[in-house]
Amino acid sequence: MDYQQLSDRLEAVATHIQQGDFIADIGSDHAYLPAYLMLKNQISGAIAGEVVEGPYESAKHLVESLNLIDKISVRLGDGLAVIKPTDQVTAITICGMGGTLIRDILDRGIQHGVLTGKERLILQPNVGEKILRQWLVSHNYQIVDEELIEENHKFYEIIVAEKATEMTELTPNELLFGPVLLTRKNPIFAKKWQQEVREKYRVIDQLKQATKNQDEKLKKLQQDIQQIEEVLVND
Ligand code: SAM
Repeated sequence: MDYQQLSDRLEAVATHIQQGDFIADIGSDHAYLPAYLMLKNQISGAIAGEVVEGPYESAKHLVESLNLIDKISVRLGDGLAVIKPTDQVTAITICGMGGTLIRDILDRGIQHGVLTGKERLILQPNVGEKILRQWLVSHNYQIVDEELIEENHKFYEIIVAEKATEMTELTPNELLFGPVLLTRKNPIFAKKWQQEVREKYRVIDQLKQATKNQDEKLKKLQQDIQQIEEVLVND
């Protein structure tokens, strides 16, 4: 994967960026996503934020080598803290992390007044999608679009959210499966959840086997005790 040929996962994220957006890509690793979007003239500019020195240097290196420093500002910092009040960010992308980490980044963004509610959120959690949806709903975000893709035998969900004017609520099924994904139910959806069910059956089998082993150990201990006590009583 590079900035010219994105992974299917980031390519799918890119389709949710609107023409002319100014994006803040948080956890921007090599800055592949902003560089790709900039070279396609899909965005007007970007901030590539990274909290770790190594990936930050990689992002800076790519942006400099592509002569994009006046369009993509690479910044070292935690989460949304890299966004300044004067930046006209229209969309925030946070991809390739756990849902809990994404939720915490958004939460700190609200606490510090950086996340204003004007930005569209394009989030791609690797796990913990339900936790993230719960946070979005409880902060008055509406899930306006979702996508489910499969790449290298892994499933990835993309959640697009915008601040809603009214409070929205999600049912337990919508929180787990995704309100949009649930209505579309494409073939990948069935594949993902069938795999999830198989995995749960596998865990049940393991638990049953562990219980059986424990029962056998318990039985053996009771037999040992009985044998010893019989001898003690007859003494
Ligand atoms: N976004 C890219 C993608 O989807 O391919 C990179 C994903 S990479 C697995 C996650 C990146 O997020 C890492 O480079 C990590 O250093 C960065 N990261 C983790 N926590 C962060 C935070 N609080 N603020 C900014 N970046 C963070």
